[in-house]
Amino acid sequence: MFDQVFLGREFFEMLERQDEAIAERVAAAGCPVCAGPLHRGDYDRKPRGGLIARAGEAFVKRFSLCCGREGCRKRATPPSLRFLGRRVYVGAVVILASIVAHALGVAAQARAATGVPARTTRRWLAWWMGPFLSTEVFVAIRARLIEVNAAALPASILNRLPGTVTEQVGLLVTLLAPISTGTVPDGSRFVRVVA
Ligand SMILES: [Zn+2]
Repeated sequence: MFDQVFLGREFFEMLERQDEAIAERVAAAGCPVCAGPLHRGDYDRKPRGGLIARAGEAFVKRFSLCCGREGCRKRATPPSLRFLGRRVYVGAVVILASIVAHALGVAAQARAATGVPARTTRRWLAWWMGPFLSTEVFVAIRARLIEVNAAALPASILNRLPGTVTEQVGLLVTLLAPISTGTVPDGSRFVRVVA
C-alpha cells in the first residue's frame, strides 16, 4: 500500500521548482491589497516528513512576498505544493498518512507505517471530511472528477488521478495549493495544473 511509497529528494525538488514559478507569478501580479510592488520575504520553516517523506525536511524555505508600498507592507504568501497551510508536516504526508490511517483503522499500525501520531491523522481526517468539503478547491475537484466519495477522502480523489502514486500525490498537492495560503486570494490563478 502507500506505506511502501517514499517520496525522495527529486520529488521535492520538482515541487520546489513549481513553488518558485508560482511565487514569480504572484510577484508579477502585485500586492493583492493595494497592487503595490511585491518583494521577496522568504522565511524558514521546519517541515516534517514522517517515515514517508524524510527528504522533504531539507526543503525549509517558504517562499513569501511583502508589499513594498509604505502604509501597506502586507505579506502575500503564494500557494505552495510543499506546505499545506500551517501544518508542520509537508502536504504530501498530510495526504498519504491520512489515507493510510483511514485504510488501516488501527492507530498503532498506521503510526508504525507513516511515523505520524494517531491524534494528528485523526485531526487531518476530520478536516478532509469536514471543513475541506466547503472549500472552493474541493468544489472544483468534484466538478472535474465527478463522483468523488466524500466519506473516503482524500483516497477517493487520489485514486481518480492519473499516473503512479508519486505522480498522483504531485498532482493532488498542485490541486490543493490554493488552500495552502490565506494571504493570496483566488490562488488557483497562479497554479498550473499539468495532468
Ligand atoms: Zn500592498
